Amino acid sequence: QAKDAGRNRVRFFSPAMQIAIEARLALEHALRRALREEELRLYFQPQIDQHGRYIGAEALVRWHSREQGTLIPPMQFIPLAEETGLILGLGQWVVREACQQLKAWEADPQTRELQLAVNVSARQLQQPDFVAQIRDSLAESGANPARLKLELTESAFLANTQQIDERMKQLRALGVSFSLDDFGTGFSSLSYLKRLPFDQLKIDQAFVRDVTTDPNDAAIVAAILAMSRSLGLEIIAEGVETEAQRDFLLENGCHGFQGYLFGRPAPIEDLAQVW
Ligand code: C2E
Ligand code: MG
Ligand code: MG
Ligand code: MG
Repeated sequence: QAKDAGRNRVRFFSPAMQIAIEARLALEHALRRALREEELRLYFQPQIDQHGRYIGAEALVRWHSREQGTLIPPMQFIPLAEETGLILGLGQWVVREACQQLKAWEADPQTRELQLAVNVSARQLQQPDFVAQIRDSLAESGANPARLKLELTESAFLANTQQIDERMKQLRALGVSFSLDDFGTGFSSLSYLKRLPFDQLKIDQAFVRDVTTDPNDAAIVAAILAMSRSLGLEIIAEGVETEAQRDFLLENGCHGFQGYLFGRPAPIEDLAQVW
């Protein structure tokens, strides 16, 4: 087909590609406006310990699009935000909001001890002033750094592990802690775990899903739990939906849980009712 087009001939995008490109541009434009006009919201999903006590929450961004009149899930705009660089402004907004929420929790004995985890994209972490951004958000809000957890995925380390290592150490010096998100789904999770200063592992929901029916997943999850125990790492199992999954995890020494069984991501007002 490329040959048919011949030399010296302009190749136009196919109608389908043209539509896809326009849809992307429209989405990028809308997301830019969403950031400006404060259409983003943080939802919070509770995390609990082995006794069923609340230990904290993960902040998950949502886009309340006035134009579309719907709630747009992160998977529909985070990848685009990462490609376009919009993730930098978005991520900074998330961190600020999270710090303010933490500060608000500190006022209430019921919520004072809770940790809040935020997701940090590769591009965010690679910004030269990322440490300063976190320090400033903590200082402006007055939140206790020890309650802030940054969730990183393997994609964050592909660029320059040495530099990331230094940055993580600077943030740890502030009192912030780190969680390795989606553990097990990448190629080198174990090598990063060895090289970088993590406090916590999150077992990806892909392994949790079939833990009671697939002997391979059961073996993998049991091995991850045993390993995290010997390494002295905290652990959270993600995507726990059933009691059978929870029981398997409990029996294998899991001490942190997150999933629909305990609560879906929800606006903060909804959580205030349960804890
Ligand atoms: P993640 O960080 O791995 O977050 C966990 C995802 O699993 C969330 O999807 C959550 O709603 C979903 N989940 C939790 N429990 C269950 C369960 O029991 N069953 C099932 N099926 N799903 C469950 P969500 O909120 O759609 O977020 C998707 C991803 O978007 C997140 O994955 C994270 O990578 C990204 N994301 C969300 N918020 C932010 C953000 O503020 N910044 C960045 N950079 N990424 C974000
Ligand atoms: Mg996460
Ligand atoms: Mg995850
Ligand atoms: Mg994920």
